[in-house]
Amino acid sequence: MEPFDTWKQDPGWTDWRWQLRHAVRDPAVLSRWLGLTPAAAAAVWRTAQRYPVLATPYYLALAEHADPADPIVRQVLPDPRELLPDADGSPDPLAEGRDSPVPGLIHRYPDRALLVATQRCAVLCRHCLRKRAWSPAAADAPPADFGPALAYLREHAGIREVLISGGDPLLLPEDTLFGLLAALQALPQIEIVRLGSRLPVVLPQRLTPEFCARLGAGLPVWLATQFNHPRELTPETAQAVGNLLRAGIPVVNQTVLLRGINDDAPTLAALCTGLLRQRVKPYYLFHGDPVAGTLHFRTGVEAGLALLEELERSVSGLAVPAFAFDLPGGGGKVRLEPSWRCGALPDGTVVYRDRQGQPRPYPAPRP
Ligand SMILES: *Cc1c(COP(=O)(O)O)cnc(C)c1O
Ligand code: SF4
Repeated sequence: MEPFDTWKQDPGWTDWRWQLRHAVRDPAVLSRWLGLTPAAAAAVWRTAQRYPVLATPYYLALAEHADPADPIVRQVLPDPRELLPDADGSPDPLAEGRDSPVPGLIHRYPDRALLVATQRCAVLCRHCLRKRAWSPAAADAPPADFGPALAYLREHAGIREVLISGGDPLLLPEDTLFGLLAALQALPQIEIVRLGSRLPVVLPQRLTPEFCARLGAGLPVWLATQFNHPRELTPETAQAVGNLLRAGIPVVNQTVLLRGINDDAPTLAALCTGLLRQRVKPYYLFHGDPVAGTLHFRTGVEAGLALLEELERSVSGLAVPAFAFDLPGGGGKVRLEPSWRCGALPDGTVVYRDRQGQPRPYPAPRP
């Protein structure tokens, strides 16, 4: 059974509304497609009762095989390990609740604030950081009232950048989205807006030239998206990114390091160089936070750092993202670099490793 390939023949395939209408929500459809055993299908169904299924046909069609281990399938197929109790997993390890002065706004860094504009997504990613907020009701809830958040921003002149996140803010009704952008533009201290959206990856059809032109018409807008695997880079995503760039919206990427999906150097190198070919700057490579229901995707920070070092050896500096993770309890982001320093001489000369691992002294400036 190859339903998603045959769906491609439908004239609606290139229409984002058709894609949303035909999004797969029934775990049994995935299980049948993948040919799962009754026991495995029952486990998928049980997991989906807690963390639902949602995937656009476009995204599912990126799977090369109807195989539960496929890197596309693994990002959307419920895994019974999501339900395992684990002492390390917390629904909200980043304490976003604590740094939220008004509903829907997270203010952790002095000059920027994050607005959770909607709970709706086009695809529910199994590794999602905000998995705790998933519910069928949330997806259909009317858009939040941004009044309190806007009032807070108005009173905090130090905030120069607003990150609009979610959920996926590009799924907001157009009136709501453009109304929000206009309200931000009316605040004199807001210099830039950063949209966090996975639509370039999972619903690129939404990024039409007209929509992108409207997004880019006011304040300088940047878009941060989330490509996790080179197979996600397609002619459709190139088109979507092209439309954003032509509208003056630079596109950066935040990959989540995912065990069994992209935690090997060749895959990351193919992803990061492929992003450059589509004119997307790799910005972050995130180590998975200890979010309940996602722990089986975590690789370990040291393993991630070793991968970053391999990446730095093999690809253009432009292709190398910053490796980072969030400290639990709202401690904020930490960026880690492989350490190239390996010692110092008495006269102050520091010794670094070169890319082949050989020590090389680097003279200090003369006093
Ligand atoms: C990640 C994050 C930001 C943005 O951080 P950058 O390093 O500028 O990308 C802002 N606010 C919150 C709450 C965040 O978690
Ligand atoms: S698109 Fe983003 S917010 Fe939505 S499920 Fe995926 S990771 Fe979570």
